[in-house]
Amino acid sequence: MVTAQREGCPGKHTRQPLAGAEQLTWYPLDDPDPCRVLDATCSRCGPVLYELVSYGGAYAIRRTTRPRGVSETPRVRRSRVDGWWLALLLGAAH
Ligand SMILES: [Zn+2]
Repeated sequence: MVTAQREGCPGKHTRQPLAGAEQLTWYPLDDPDPCRVLDATCSRCGPVLYELVSYGGAYAIRRTTRPRGVSETPRVRRSRVDGWWLALLLGAAH
């Protein structure tokens, strides 16, 4: 999913996925657990919000798509999720 950036918006935005971008695994979340949001993309420019979240010692990326709902990657260690987060912002994963 792509969040098109509006001119002048200071928020973070994902780029259009590049050819061969890694497909992350997204599990639907019916009842999202409480977590701490460490970083997030802009939610004003498009219909998809990505959040880098922490559950104590485990980390995941949460994707909120209106109106379809919330999904999340597997919970992994920090170094792994940081790689996914960067790839998502750069268009190297989706
Ligand atoms: Zn924006």
